[in-house]
Amino acid sequence: MRALLFVLLLSIVSLSFAAPDNVVIVIGDGMGFNHLFLSELLCGGSPATRLFRVSLGLNSPADALITDSAAAATALFSGVRTVNNAAGLDPSGSPVQSVATVLKERGWKVAMITNARYYDGTPAAFYAHAFRTDDLQITEDLIACDIDLFVAGGLEKLGLNPFTGKPKKNGALERLAASGYGVYGLQFEKLFEPIGEKKGSMAFVSMGDNSFENVLLPNEMPLPEIVRKSLELIAGPRLFLVVEAARIDDASHINDDAAVKAELLAFQKTVGLLLDSFDHSRTLFLILADHETGGLSIIMGDERAINLEIAWCSGDHTASYVPILSYGAGSESFSGFLHLSDVHRILLEILGVK
Ligand SMILES: [Zn+2]
Repeated sequence: MRALLFVLLLSIVSLSFAAPDNVVIVIGDGMGFNHLFLSELLCGGSPATRLFRVSLGLNSPADALITDSAAAATALFSGVRTVNNAAGLDPSGSPVQSVATVLKERGWKVAMITNARYYDGTPAAFYAHAFRTDDLQITEDLIACDIDLFVAGGLEKLGLNPFTGKPKKNGALERLAASGYGVYGLQFEKLFEPIGEKKGSMAFVSMGDNSFENVLLPNEMPLPEIVRKSLELIAGPRLFLVVEAARIDDASHINDDAAVKAELLAFQKTVGLLLDSFDHSRTLFLILADHETGGLSIIMGDERAINLEIAWCSGDHTASYVPILSYGAGSESFSGFLHLSDVHRILLEILGVK
């Protein structure tokens, strides 16, 4: 009996410290704590985010107090505090390795989904090494990168003729297909017949940024639907998936109450969908923000989200703690005050990567 108890105890201990089989990270771009609270009020009932353990995130880059998305994403993906405007580069402009590359080399599948353009700061730091303003280099790095699934906007810049709906001759889309990617358009339709062995999948689901969730165009999908369709193209185990709710930031830059509410509701639905799609005992879920945008405050309303009134104090990023929420396998390792670069270090420790 005692031996049985010992074995049981041992298995419980080893279960709680087992490395996760999947990592799912949701980034709310520009989502401060007040945005998070607003998203919970809007979805009512018991929001999925309340399952998570909470840490306070620090995000200052190497050269300023207030960060942009590129420097924050470089801290998160590469563990390096760099200068604003740098995506996948250290402060001297030298390339730094993304966790996507590190895990891919160790046999993981890596995937990123965003409703922003593919060359925005956050996705660029995942696969590119360029300053944020260097769209040409970011496009070249996209074509050269090795990712299992990438979903973003920016189809027009990649060479889709907006009038014919067809890829331009010798454009970036054609080069992506030639390099071995299955390339998909607005509704996840194939843009090319398969060319040889498929290296991975790339879907470009809007011409530029996806429109705000409250004013989507007829050919655009809500973020949760984009994620649902994307998950038909990839699955665990050993999946490292990053989903960015990018448009919270844009809605906050222009202080658009209706748009930010719609984006935050889409963020909550996306978190719910991801929690429903992966085994909680074997998956590490992280939710975090790169920075706060707009200085959003809720100054009136009730808990049923009736007559909510929002006030803004800025049209730009602000300096504040950002949420770092964790849940599932390995989540106990995230606690206290953490810089975004610490999240990278802890992640690699949990996954046993030296
Ligand atoms: Zn911004």
